[in-house]
Amino acid sequence: MTWSDKLSTSVKSIAPSGIRKFFDIAAQMDDVISLGVGEPDFITPWSIRESCVYGLERGYTSYTANRGMPELRKEIAKHYKRLYNLEYNSDTDVLVTVGVSEALDIALRAIIEPGDEVLIPEPCYVSYQACTVLAGGVPVSVPAKLENEFRITPEELEIYITPKTKAMLIGYPNNPTGAIMTRRDLQRIAEFAEKHDLIVISDEIYGDLTYSGLHECFAAMPNMRDRTILLNGFSKAYAMTGWRIGYALGNEDFIAAMTKIHQYTMLCAPVTAQVAAIEALKHGEKYMKKMVAEYDRRRNLIYDGLNKLGLKCFEPKGAFYIFPDITSTGMTAEDFAEKLIRQERVALVPGTAFGKSGTGHVRCSYATSIEKISAALKRIEKFLG
Ligand code: PLP
Repeated sequence: MTWSDKLSTSVKSIAPSGIRKFFDIAAQMDDVISLGVGEPDFITPWSIRESCVYGLERGYTSYTANRGMPELRKEIAKHYKRLYNLEYNSDTDVLVTVGVSEALDIALRAIIEPGDEVLIPEPCYVSYQACTVLAGGVPVSVPAKLENEFRITPEELEIYITPKTKAMLIGYPNNPTGAIMTRRDLQRIAEFAEKHDLIVISDEIYGDLTYSGLHECFAAMPNMRDRTILLNGFSKAYAMTGWRIGYALGNEDFIAAMTKIHQYTMLCAPVTAQVAAIEALKHGEKYMKKMVAEYDRRRNLIYDGLNKLGLKCFEPKGAFYIFPDITSTGMTAEDFAEKLIRQERVALVPGTAFGKSGTGHVRCSYATSIEKISAALKRIEKFLG
């Protein structure tokens, strides 16, 4: 008998995140260029940081309401009204969380009964499957295809539906592929959700980071507002990963259920981060747009560069990742990533970290400087040569 025998079955059944392994290798080496991390290289815009400093000066150091500061909830509701004409009551339909990570966890825990199945288009963010398992659910992966620009269709989802399917967990713009869904795509998914009476958790953390037109919000599709738990946060669009602030929007029953879990496990999101988030929503858009324009420049550089090296890529339409096909090298994604970091000191993540459907791909993040991307491309060229 060892201590690990005493761990819960669900914890034992999930693997550690496939992203971390390459961070650990990189941490032991000098002069590594990292295309591995999924986080902006920008520092949070000064006016946002300053509002936090000023908040501290004014004595904002205590707990807030469990659901989050009323002013922040009002700003969030206003934001969705302005962008998508969606009505959320800031008293009942908005919950401020510790990052989208917490929102995702408690959304699943609020709706899943043991054995309920959750459809998850794949490749997908590393937490989707693990959080579903930890909530007692069964993740059911639905492979999205490169030929279809990694978009998912109702026909593909239909194959995996069973009487136990309770929900669907989608994330567009997508990590790791950079795929987005068109309005028509989402309308069709909405019809599918309605037909099978599914709850849809829609992680739209990259919603502000799109490069070919505006993001389409799933909750704004016909009849989807009440069926959808919409997740968003400040980590990516406002370069605020370390602040740990996100939110969930939905019908008042879902949000009340999530608030119960949040109340007992988190109590509230950090007050300093909430003060900063208010400033981000009130005045941060211009800084966010500048960062998006810079990501777009980097996206063009890396997309052209990888294609020229013979690594076939889908042109990412959102987020800050590109997902080249590396099968032409004859290596597996894990071999490619491990040899590349050891030989040329470029860190990226094997596509399999994002599910089986990531086989034959690697994920590169272009949330790093033009200079570093150019240098990384040269190193990859040498590696391939
Ligand atoms: N959802 C997706 C798709 C992500 O890529 C990430 C972080 O990489 C998260 C959620 C977690 O975000 P947060 O920092 O708000 O917890």
